[in-house]
Amino acid sequence: MIEYTAIIRDTAKKLLKDGKVDVFIGYKKGTVPMMNEPVVISDPEKVDTLHWDSLCGLNLCNYLTKRKDKIGIIANGCNSRNIVTHILENQISREQLYIVGIPCTGVIDHRAVLRAVGNKEVLDVQEQGDKFTVSGNGFSETFDKAKFLRTNCAVCTHRNPVIYDEMVASPVKEQEGVDPFEDVKKIEAMDPEKKWGFFTKMIERCLRCYACRNSCPLCYCPTCFVDESKPQWVGKSIDPTDTMTFHIMRAYHCAGRCTDCGACERVCPVGIPMRQFTKKLNKDALEYFSWEAGLNPDARPPLDVYKPDDYNDFVK
Ligand code: SF4
Ligand code: SF4
Ligand code: SF4
Repeated sequence: MIEYTAIIRDTAKKLLKDGKVDVFIGYKKGTVPMMNEPVVISDPEKVDTLHWDSLCGLNLCNYLTKRKDKIGIIANGCNSRNIVTHILENQISREQLYIVGIPCTGVIDHRAVLRAVGNKEVLDVQEQGDKFTVSGNGFSETFDKAKFLRTNCAVCTHRNPVIYDEMVASPVKEQEGVDPFEDVKKIEAMDPEKKWGFFTKMIERCLRCYACRNSCPLCYCPTCFVDESKPQWVGKSIDPTDTMTFHIMRAYHCAGRCTDCGACERVCPVGIPMRQFTKKLNKDALEYFSWEAGLNPDARPPLDVYKPDDYNDFVK
């Protein structure tokens, strides 16, 4: 990944120096290992802060909403699809953007790494092709990256960016023969009582910290429904009813828009797999409307189109 980092830095420097962009949005190394952070660079002399490796797991599109300047940004498959969604929803215009495409081979699940090393303190992570080495005081272990991918990346079928102005490397081969919805199907097969029990248990540790909401580029409403007080749509406690209401409403707000980027799960401090909600809606959008979010900047999403000749009677 060193070579991607060098290309990203060179590209950002040129774009900033030539005045093609006012800022460049990418990642920098985190202050602790495995926690790379988004960074916005405006000085061409500071591009050496930029970094890319398989631990860049937050969604940079989150930093585009309503910006008015010219922006350079790196984008892999899922981030580029969120950029398309942003363009479709008039949150940014394509003309403002210079997109540097990253062919993606997946993001490493930092929690799985910590489990694998017995929760010892990790001081360094080095990638070597399809392997990575994790080290700390008195230990050093090498793992296969493929076995440590985040669950969304393990079944991702859109690893290459769908829009870009230039690529840092040739596209990677897309994964074939994976079923992105295997887990959803298992839940769908449960009877209603078991299903309710599954979701109730899943969210019982939720703190209502809203990190999942804040990390998601789809959640850009000036006032989120959870923060409204007149009317108050949902209580603010961690009572199971309030918490479930928050999760179900947030998921519905992402219907037909979620790109399964996994940022929401990555930032959750207690490890709640809340993509189980959005993935069900992604599956429904695909099955009922042949729709996957953010693939085509020229196609309107199913929830904002009306066709008088719609085959569903209820529309008429
Ligand atoms: S979901 Fe796909 S494009 Fe996004 S980080 Fe994972 S593998 Fe890459
Ligand atoms: S709901 Fe989660 S997985 Fe979907 S786009 Fe938002 S952050 Fe990404
Ligand atoms: S990030 Fe996790 S704990 Fe925080 S509100 Fe979301 S699900 Fe709950």
